[in-house]
Amino acid sequence: MDYTVGEILQFVEENDVKFIRLAFCDVFGRPKNIAIMADQLERAFSSGISFDASAVRGFLQVEESDLFLFPDPGTMAILPWRPQQGRVVRFFCHIRHPDGRPFAGDGRYLLHQAEGALAEMGYTAKVGAECEFYLFLQGEDGAPTKIPFDRAGYLDMAPLDRGENIRREICLTLEEMGILPESSHHEQGPGQNEVDFKYADPLRAADDLTTFRSVVRVVAAQNGLCASFAPKPLPDASGSGLHVNLSLHRDGVNLFRAQGEGHSREAEAFLAGILDRVEEITAFLNPLPQSYERLGRCEAPGYLSWSHQNRSQLIRIPAAAGPYARMELRSPDPACNPYLAFALLLRAGAEGVREKKALCPPCDHNLYTAPEEILRGVRPLPKDFAAAAQLARESAFVRAALPQGVVDSLLGGQQPR
Ligand code: GLU
Ligand code: MG
Ligand code: MG
Repeated sequence: MDYTVGEILQFVEENDVKFIRLAFCDVFGRPKNIAIMADQLERAFSSGISFDASAVRGFLQVEESDLFLFPDPGTMAILPWRPQQGRVVRFFCHIRHPDGRPFAGDGRYLLHQAEGALAEMGYTAKVGAECEFYLFLQGEDGAPTKIPFDRAGYLDMAPLDRGENIRREICLTLEEMGILPESSHHEQGPGQNEVDFKYADPLRAADDLTTFRSVVRVVAAQNGLCASFAPKPLPDASGSGLHVNLSLHRDGVNLFRAQGEGHSREAEAFLAGILDRVEEITAFLNPLPQSYERLGRCEAPGYLSWSHQNRSQLIRIPAAAGPYARMELRSPDPACNPYLAFALLLRAGAEGVREKKALCPPCDHNLYTAPEEILRGVRPLPKDFAAAAQLARESAFVRAALPQGVVDSLLGGQQPR
């Protein structure tokens, strides 16, 4: 959907659009928006709409607090859950300083830059995120509880599975917004669900994931439920992962496509690059103390390893052909900022390709049950957020990939400038 500004203004006029939501994410990946009336849209495209960046966590200080939102025309979507008379249209935005400079805390900008660095080397990547979530009952006052919506397990059916209508509504809403759902199912935990949608270019994939999370929250709330994207909401049940599927392309060819037995050298180097840097960027993929309660059990990885099929591994190369050939990184969780997470993964993969990193042999053991002598040979993921944050702080790779202010903000330091 690449509309010109003129086409958008015409669409707004002809489709009874009254409100425009200018959307962005704070440095933690939390969605924010401001509504303007439709007649202000032309001004938004030409000179931006200002907001108080000192009131957005991790953005600016009060001394210089104005930032401007410029709608990104390619991201236009009608919000299907708002009235269809006097419609509401949403755009993701570029964030700029008053002098026009891009704001360094804008995750969309950082991801765009990372995509650009890969493109300069002659490659593109596709990203597909699989986001798990829980559905909990609301308390009497509408507040979230930890009481699961049902007691069903993996791929269970109704009446055990009570989430089928919620997933149906989520899929239909996504479709209306131009996001293509591909499959949905009940996950392992009670009340845990997953809806997968089609992979896309990295920035589009992060925007789609942000939209997806909003859709899930809205549909859950409309049904008197609360959606939770917490990595480990129930201590004794499966955590919620955000598996990130990545493929690497050159001249329109997916380099993860199996050639006989193996993948291209570049795809292996891309994977090796990510494996090499994953410890240093874990604080951004698993940003909460709770994230570390998920890792190492219930099909969430605990070690730095890869394999073809084995779900106990950090990176898996699933059995998939053609455009769906890819690597799957299983450690990230839905609390991460997808823009920063994807930017770091693209940069780590690009470094692997640039330096022609060699891929270590696969680890084909079940790492949840493997004997001590096997486990001694594989490095564990950081054991808690403090350890992950320390590795990130010491990392020259992280310093080169993200502005210091963003790093400080995410690791619990100062605010970005
Ligand atoms: N819920 C598991 C996790 O925490 C993943 C289960 C699956 O393979 O879909 O990552
Ligand atoms: Mg799953
Ligand atoms: Mg998966």
